[in-house]
Amino acid sequence: MKILCEVQVVNRATQTNKTPRPVKSTLAIGYKQSARDANGNTKKELEMVLFSGQNKTGNRYKVKDNIHVVHTKFVLDGKTTIGFIQPPDNLLIKCDPIQLKGFLQTLKLGMDGKDAINLRLNINAATAIPQKAQPQVRMVISKRSEYPIKGFPRTLKSLTINNSQLVKLSFEICTLRNLTKLDVSGNKLTKIPSELGRLPLTSLHLGNNLLGTQNDWCWLRGTKLCQSLGELDLSGNGLTYFPPPLVKFESLVSLNLNNNLLSRLPFAIRRMKALRKLYVCSNELESLPSAVEDLRIDLLDVWGNCFKEFNADAAQQMYLQKAASNSPQPLWLLGARAVDKYMLPLSAGSIPAVLIDLIREAPRCPCGELCYAQRKEDLFQRVVQPKFITVKNLTYSREHQIYADVVLCDSRCSASAELKLLFNIIFS
Ligand SMILES: [Zn+2]
Repeated sequence: MKILCEVQVVNRATQTNKTPRPVKSTLAIGYKQSARDANGNTKKELEMVLFSGQNKTGNRYKVKDNIHVVHTKFVLDGKTTIGFIQPPDNLLIKCDPIQLKGFLQTLKLGMDGKDAINLRLNINAATAIPQKAQPQVRMVISKRSEYPIKGFPRTLKSLTINNSQLVKLSFEICTLRNLTKLDVSGNKLTKIPSELGRLPLTSLHLGNNLLGTQNDWCWLRGTKLCQSLGELDLSGNGLTYFPPPLVKFESLVSLNLNNNLLSRLPFAIRRMKALRKLYVCSNELESLPSAVEDLRIDLLDVWGNCFKEFNADAAQQMYLQKAASNSPQPLWLLGARAVDKYMLPLSAGSIPAVLIDLIREAPRCPCGELCYAQRKEDLFQRVVQPKFITVKNLTYSREHQIYADVVLCDSRCSASAELKLLFNIIFS
């Protein structure tokens, strides 16, 4: 009988570990067929052999009258110790519990001199159980010279390439179907191939690159990536605006946009329902969208920004709004509001995609009405120090107030009056 296990060999006499830690091994037990004796009978001698990666020919242990001790207390946990008298070795064995139990039963039968099917192994010819080579699943490259010339193993699940002056992400990386974690921080990437959007990554680190120079976000439109990604780091990329396709990442839990040049976040961020951690420290944020309230954010870091109370665009918009207050609202906005109000199912077959996006992304007036404020000029209320009661942990520079933008459905909306009571409104 042979079992695959992990064994550490300790010499009782010298108290030295022959193997410093448990190593993958094969343990075999069986009868050694010796030459016939004078009477013509073969003498069978029970033997145990320990094979390991270091010792392919095996260490042979006589069993009969040579067992010092067998500890069986933890067999159900898959652990046992077999001690021999000569040499005074203790084998500390870890193995699948069922296999281990079978092995110890076989040992007992052998020691009792019984013949068992499991003992019919020709121990002289026994060899180690072949172990499949473990496929490589992880690779870390921390300098340019370590970049593999022969390409990447197809089995990779995690790939890290840091500080390697990488200017382009190779197409080959985009075809590693098993990849779930990719970290290419600290390079010189200006663009990500759109093929990356086809990988079901869960974690993507692109910090400290140059993606803001080209602002090519095609890869964010890949549906696989959009559905699977849980963690994205785009810090230190010189971004001047929030990449628009990102709001469709409804599984994203952690988003790092630290150290960029963002002046605002989109109202459409309310679509990112899974978002729990949002890092936007050291940017140029003038305000936050009130839509942050619609999310369940555990951690919001807006330390080191330039929150402002005056919004010139909003002031101008207020003026235009008054002039246009009598003009009818666009039909598609009324349509979207009706679908939203009656909570009709948002199925792609029955409702135009543009309306679905509008319902999921457009800002809501505090009264609940959907608005359409995709343009910067459409914002027209900025309030000081919003409560953000849904944010559990808010980090910001104490010397600055935080300002938030609120969109109202109509200048005559009742929410406008309520806002005046709650906040110090800049425009009225
Ligand atoms: Zn309203």
